[in-house]
Amino acid sequence: MEIAFRKITKEALSFELSSENIKFLGKVFRKSSDLVLLKADLLGQIGHTCDRCGEELNLDINEPLEMLLSDGIYKGEIDNLDIVEFYGGVIDFNEILQSEIESIKSSYHYCNKCKN
Ligand SMILES: [Zn+2]
Repeated sequence: MEIAFRKITKEALSFELSSENIKFLGKVFRKSSDLVLLKADLLGQIGHTCDRCGEELNLDINEPLEMLLSDGIYKGEIDNLDIVEFYGGVIDFNEILQSEIESIKSSYHYCNKCKN
């Protein structure tokens, strides 16, 4: 799913997509001439293997996300928020979703047995 930067105004624009068992839904708003604010939630489950014993488990995901999307390289400075740069004037929501899923998978998760 893609939305062109120029189509995003100060009025919230909703989006929703999913990959495997994860839903990615939220809104985008224009923040400045080259920045768009994204507020969204990741909901669902991600299959993973325990990083200690290798047992299969499902991670319950319920994560709010807030980030800025830049139309091209962002040159300014903003604290406390992730900035994702897109080239070509288009926001690729699948790319955001895939990178969030990858970042969840790349951290360590343990099954209930290994947690205790
Ligand atoms: Zn385990």
